[in-house]
Amino acid sequence: MTATDVRDMRRTVSDLHAELVRNNLVAWTAGNVSGRVPGEDLFVIKPSGVGYDALTPETMVVCDLDGNLVEGAHSPSSDTAAHAYVYRNMPEVGGVVHTHSTYATAWAARGEAVPCVLTAMADEFGGEIPVGPFALIGDDSIGQGIVETLKGHRSPAVLMRSHGVFTIGKDPKAAVKAAVMCEDVARTVHVARQLGEPLTIARADIDRLHDRYQNVYGQRSPR
Ligand SMILES: [Zn+2]
Repeated sequence: MTATDVRDMRRTVSDLHAELVRNNLVAWTAGNVSGRVPGEDLFVIKPSGVGYDALTPETMVVCDLDGNLVEGAHSPSSDTAAHAYVYRNMPEVGGVVHTHSTYATAWAARGEAVPCVLTAMADEFGGEIPVGPFALIGDDSIGQGIVETLKGHRSPAVLMRSHGVFTIGKDPKAAVKAAVMCEDVARTVHVARQLGEPLTIARADIDRLHDRYQNVYGQRSPR
């Protein structure tokens, strides 16, 4: 492994955990971020049971794609098997985030997808935020549920039924952004529901918004 890449990813993943706290996505030690080490069959993930204030690049742990500890003084997050399964089965994914953020998890508790009724949802998710199966921790069930739901879906977020949110991204920052956006739109659509039925957006408009956001927005070359 290249020591610099591992060191950089330890810092990136450690720093991004602060975003979960800053955006009110986590309680106590729940929630975790991981990042694939570029070009290696390795990823960096949060240690199990360590408080957010105590997280540093040094406390992060490095695992192989089977979820085995490769480097680190702590044991890896209890969600490591799910992260590892995603990295094994979705080679394009460079970052994974898991939270029990309140509004998104409330939709998961009802087993209900968040409908795409906001342009920001069309941009980021390209449609509804789907629900994945009920799965118990301890084997590959959670990972399988995430991959089965997100493969072939434009959404980078899945609401695992009765559990919480998993998001993916090209890198850990993109996965954290998806987790923040997922909670934000879950909250807005929930609030909208309190006063009536949100209006739908035509599929063609969702497609146009998604295409523009993913392919044009923020990527214009400087003039
Ligand atoms: Zn969880």
